[in-house]
Amino acid sequence: MSRSALLLSVLVVALFAKSAPASGLVAVLVGSDHATPAVLEAIERTAQAALAPGISVTWKTSSELEGTAVSADVAIIRLRGECHPRGGLQSWSPPSIADGKPMGQTHISDGHVLPIADILCDTVWDLVGPDIRGAAARDRDELLGRALGRVVAHELYHIMLRTTAHTQEGFTRPNLRSADLLSEPDTSDNLEQPLDSGR
Ligand SMILES: [Zn+2]
Repeated sequence: MSRSALLLSVLVVALFAKSAPASGLVAVLVGSDHATPAVLEAIERTAQAALAPGISVTWKTSSELEGTAVSADVAIIRLRGECHPRGGLQSWSPPSIADGKPMGQTHISDGHVLPIADILCDTVWDLVGPDIRGAAARDRDELLGRALGRVVAHELYHIMLRTTAHTQEGFTRPNLRSADLLSEPDTSDNLEQPLDSGR
């Protein structure tokens, strides 16, 4: 059984900082071959920035984890679909996003949040693709990776706090807009996210 999920926030960072001051998390990326190296780099950097300063994330591919003793908490992040920019402007057709279609899913069993999440790249692309397609080619991987990284951070929030709850602000809200996912990271301290995007 799984449930849809998608976002993170100031509250989350505060919770992390309070409950796990030196916490380390190993995030295992499964399906990294669905993305480009540049997208992966942006995913890792953006998710880490969203979770800082309370959580330090070590990123591993599933092959890197084999035979390795792991003492930290481990979360499995599965990249599903096509996790790279695609299509030229000529071949673009307007996306049709069904209401409630999730961009990520954290798995739940008997009411307990499991440390497994799916990132549904095709849904994320449907949302942010129209805003990315006009960007310079060299920027598209960065922008998509940034969006995916925020979805990853949202799912890691559910996993780390073992909660299905959401917040009313930040990237732990239940719904995010394209602009939320693509916005420039706060380079000062990453403690704040845009608040003017509620539906
Ligand atoms: Zn969620």
